[in-house]
Amino acid sequence: MFMGVIRPFDPWKGELCSCPEKYSLNPYTGCPHQCLYCYSSSYIPRFFECRVKKDLLKHVRRDCEKLPENALISMSNTSDPYPPVEKEYELTRRCLEIFREYDFRVLVITKGDVILRDVDLLSDMRSAVTITVTTLKYDEILERGAPRALRRIEVLKELKDSGIPVGLRFDPLIPFLNDKEIEEIISKTSFVDHVVSSTFKPRRDSWKRFSLAFPDVSKKLKDLYFSKGERIQRALYLPREMRRELMKKVKEVCESYGIPFASCREGFPELQSSKSCDGSHLIR
Ligand code: SF4
Repeated sequence: MFMGVIRPFDPWKGELCSCPEKYSLNPYTGCPHQCLYCYSSSYIPRFFECRVKKDLLKHVRRDCEKLPENALISMSNTSDPYPPVEKEYELTRRCLEIFREYDFRVLVITKGDVILRDVDLLSDMRSAVTITVTTLKYDEILERGAPRALRRIEVLKELKDSGIPVGLRFDPLIPFLNDKEIEEIISKTSFVDHVVSSTFKPRRDSWKRFSLAFPDVSKKLKDLYFSKGERIQRALYLPREMRRELMKKVKEVCESYGIPFASCREGFPELQSSKSCDGSHLIR
């Protein structure tokens, strides 16, 4: 099936991906949040410049006609759907309005607080929202273009209080950087309906950015990734046992708060207590 802007998610079928069948739409090309660990910058030129897609809404309408009933659309997997320019262009909002007409299920993944503008719409359609929080200490360096982590937690709470199902993306977990923050972050977000976590999987450019910003941490990680770890498709992974321990730790803290847990692209289905890895089961 030819699709223009709404495309099957993960057409390459990542060997560790456990996501349900879904589609993906990125209303913007590029993202100004500038996360050091971002992997999209490894294959999209000038990625940290946010660009508007030409005739987006026309293409979205045309693609919606081809989607099956009850389709699940994830927005967004490659760039954030709520960059600051969304206040002006309202592309994400217009897409949501179209999806509501078709009664599609929509999973929003963001760090942007502009999402609060759309609470009315999101609570009037089949939606769930996951917000990424990785660190309360280093967010100004690690995700320097995004709203502060504490602000994102406030946004999660406002969405939850508005009746929208919410999940926390605690992703990526980076040893020697934010692994000491697991308890604090989960306790501050203990009202969420789902937590998904994943370890840092650097690509060539994200490793370079990260090493420049955190030279001491990268020195400790270098051997773990480049000698003892493994390469899976285009990403570097920490040694399997270390990843398992990190995910187990997050799961245990989640369990202590009664929050269902899943990991993302780690290959530990036995650790999953949530009904889906991406939080799409929360959509009513
Ligand atoms: S918010 Fe997501 S897409 Fe944007 S820079 Fe960060 S990791 Fe990349």
